[in-house]
Amino acid sequence: MRIVVQKFGGTSVSTPEMRSKVCDRVRSTLDSGYKVVVVVSAMGRESDPYSTDTFINMIRAVNPDPSLREMDLIMSCGEIITATLLASQLSVQGIPSRCLTGEQAGIVTDSNYGNAHILYVKPQNILQCLEDGITPIVAGFQGRSERGDLTTLGRGGSDTTASALGAALNAEVIDIFTDVEGVMTADPRIVENARLLDSITYNEICQLARDGAKVIHPRSVEIAMQANILAGSFYSERHPRYPGRSQAKR
Ligand code: ADP
Ligand code: ASP
Ligand code: MG
Repeated sequence: MRIVVQKFGGTSVSTPEMRSKVCDRVRSTLDSGYKVVVVVSAMGRESDPYSTDTFINMIRAVNPDPSLREMDLIMSCGEIITATLLASQLSVQGIPSRCLTGEQAGIVTDSNYGNAHILYVKPQNILQCLEDGITPIVAGFQGRSERGDLTTLGRGGSDTTASALGAALNAEVIDIFTDVEGVMTADPRIVENARLLDSITYNEICQLARDGAKVIHPRSVEIAMQANILAGSFYSERHPRYPGRSQAKR
């Protein structure tokens, strides 16, 4: 089975139009003979109604210092909303799909609320979907501790979900769709003449991510590197030169 994991970040799923583009991309990848596992983030950023920050502000408005357990539960809601909507949208377009929470996708973590590490992945549910011709749409950024509580994987952690699933499923490639054309020499929001990199080594991107470049979560790179997944691609649906891509190479 040839598997591709496609992760769509917050801005890539923020509007019905953007989600339609996601559906088109999933369809064209399926048409090219791959099984697709989709991972999604919460819709939009800070002030958007279903973004992670909105949920954080919501709970802090009633309790400035909520328990970490409750915080994780509310923080996980955005991804579940996106995954449910996208699975429904794909299904209505004739692509059988199923929404899976992190737990249903088999992501098992430690109990470090807010920044949990993935201990292992039980990919049976996902594999069953793929065998049945159903495209799984996984809520990123979340898992379940061995104690049975919902945990989140650290801000930006949907990237980590994508890599962990890619590794567990022996995916050929992990595609990261975001709002920039690819990995650049610097954050284009800060450095005006940042340049797109066609390729970058795992060690370089690992360093970039550890230094705080939001474009990918450092743990996501580490997992892909360990799993020997040879190419991670970065795409932006927004950029006129779509698909731009930067591949992570050894
Ligand atoms: P998503 O919601 O899709 O995960 P993020 O906001 O987490 O998106 O990451 C994408 C952002 O990363 C870009 O909008 C960009 O501002 C930032 N960024 C930081 N460093 C870099 C870099 N070196 N190359 C590209 N983007 C970068
Ligand atoms: N929605 C989560 C966050 O804002 C995870 C992610 O976007 O990857 O941190
Ligand atoms: Mg991100």
